[in-house]
Amino acid sequence: MWRIGAALGITGAASANYLLHKNENTGRYQLLIIPEFILDMLCKVAKAQLEKNQAIIEHDKKVYQCISEISSTITQHIDSKKTWNLTVIDSKVVNACALSDGSIYVYTGLVDLVEEPEELAFIMCHELSHVILNHTAEKVSVRIFVYLLWQLVIFYFIGGDLDLSFIKDLLVNLPLSRAAETEADIQGLKLMYKAGFGVQGAVEMMKKFKELDMEGSSALLATHPLSKDRSEVLKSEIKKIGENSSKVVENLKIRKLFKDAKSEIKENKESKEEILQTSPA
Ligand SMILES: [Zn+2]
Repeated sequence: MWRIGAALGITGAASANYLLHKNENTGRYQLLIIPEFILDMLCKVAKAQLEKNQAIIEHDKKVYQCISEISSTITQHIDSKKTWNLTVIDSKVVNACALSDGSIYVYTGLVDLVEEPEELAFIMCHELSHVILNHTAEKVSVRIFVYLLWQLVIFYFIGGDLDLSFIKDLLVNLPLSRAAETEADIQGLKLMYKAGFGVQGAVEMMKKFKELDMEGSSALLATHPLSKDRSEVLKSEIKKIGENSSKVVENLKIRKLFKDAKSEIKENKESKEEILQTSPA
């Protein structure tokens, strides 16, 4: 096993210069050494973990239809051959994520938190921007590269076997770099503007996140920089967009679906509370 690791490490070190890709959206060089089919395999494992023991919302529910409409309004403005595939999870958890294979996950807890569709649109644009900007591929590549180099140092100078068990850790939710998060915020803002959503929704979303930052209760925020800092970056980017930044969603279909989705979530919550109150202690 160590020979495979050593070979991979040496190959990785030697070829790193040739595997730096300039991202055309950000101008930043990224180390991308993981082939797409391996990323797809990792995504399959991650998807199984994300959906394990979770209640998946049916496609005929208003909340699914609302998020699906927002999602397709955004993805039609993304220049990619990916097939986007939405899953909505019925959970109080405030979370959303997008995997590099095009899978999108949104938790109903996030829809419950937001007050306007633009706020939800911003979070989805942010998560989709991580995919567009190859952030997951970069994170996995950097960690594998650094880890293999470290293992080679141990192997040659200290002695011992190479340990490749770290690969399983790549399947859990490791945070991205701060630079990647800022890039996703800026790209997400541009994307939501292109898709016709009012960009003030991003600032409103950060106001809500600031309160959650203090509670420390959101899964989404545990892997992201402080909302106060993100808010400053977003406000300065909005200034660059100028007077059109106050444009709100013209899409009446989304407005109607959003209202229905909020009512559906409220009814669901009330009926769950009723069951809890009437069930014997
Ligand atoms: Zn992020």
